Amino acid sequence: MSDRHDRSVTGIVTDVQHFSIHDGPGIRTTVFLKGCNLRCFWCHNPETLKMKSELQYFPDRCIACGACVPPCPTGAHAIVDGRHEFDRALCTACGACAPTCFARALVMAGETRTAGEIVDEVARDRAFYETSGGGVTLSGGEPLLQPDFTEAVLAGCLELGISTAIETAANVAWHVIERALPVTKLVMMDIKSADSEAHRSATGVPNERVLANARRIAEYGVPMIVRTPIVPGVNDDEASIAGIAAFLAELPTAVTYELLRFHMMAEAKYAALGLVCRAAGLEPPTHETMQRLTRVARDAGVTVHSA
Ligand code: SF4
Ligand code: SF4
Repeated sequence: MSDRHDRSVTGIVTDVQHFSIHDGPGIRTTVFLKGCNLRCFWCHNPETLKMKSELQYFPDRCIACGACVPPCPTGAHAIVDGRHEFDRALCTACGACAPTCFARALVMAGETRTAGEIVDEVARDRAFYETSGGGVTLSGGEPLLQPDFTEAVLAGCLELGISTAIETAANVAWHVIERALPVTKLVMMDIKSADSEAHRSATGVPNERVLANARRIAEYGVPMIVRTPIVPGVNDDEASIAGIAAFLAELPTAVTYELLRFHMMAEAKYAALGLVCRAAGLEPPTHETMQRLTRVARDAGVTVHSA
């Protein structure tokens, strides 16, 4: 077990987003950690899926200046007939080219940071947390796949009086969650389906561990917001939401339930990573659908916020 006060413990982080208002109460700083053990086909943070650093290439930003060619040790960049060509198969994600690209066509996803650096960065916005009831949120990816780092950042922020939250799919061993809970003031967790086979088909993993962990977090008593992204063909029907709501209504402590309207806005990020976006072209659910599903959850006795 780590020392939760160890500021030198490192993690892989893709972004630190300041002044966020969508990742918990008040004004927050959201720290996005790399690595996830689900593969939801509608994921809007594909740059967080793999645990290791990756190079993102956005061709529409490229001005073909050629600055990236000399620093690359593997010859992955070339200027041919005045056009930039990038051979992703040659890239080892060393990161040498990204700082030379002033057009921001080359951007590394994943940087090793210490817990102390993150705590110091989060602490700079302390005045905003105090006036808004906000704090820090660790998101991803799945922050609980880097448990030592997550625990150290949460503990460091809490010591400074900064409220802490995690966004998790809770598909990890209970002992990992149990370690984080004493330094977590709010758990925001996703439940995508109450049906294990439907969950597996949408996310790549069954849901038994997710539901068992949700029950144990509720027993522990930390405030909890459960969220379901409403995705067409996955859970935009009454039976799916009724199943999740029935599960939530049986939890030992009351939770807040949020239905989130799916929007696919990450197609450029998939292309930049050389990935296929399996949700391309999928339309968001209608407002009528969101209202209908909200009513279904409320009828099950659950407190619902619809976003
Ligand atoms: S440095 Fe950036 S803008 Fe210049 S050729 Fe390379 S990718 Fe394009
Ligand atoms: S990250 Fe490294 S290996 Fe990959 S293209 Fe850039 S310089 Fe070359």
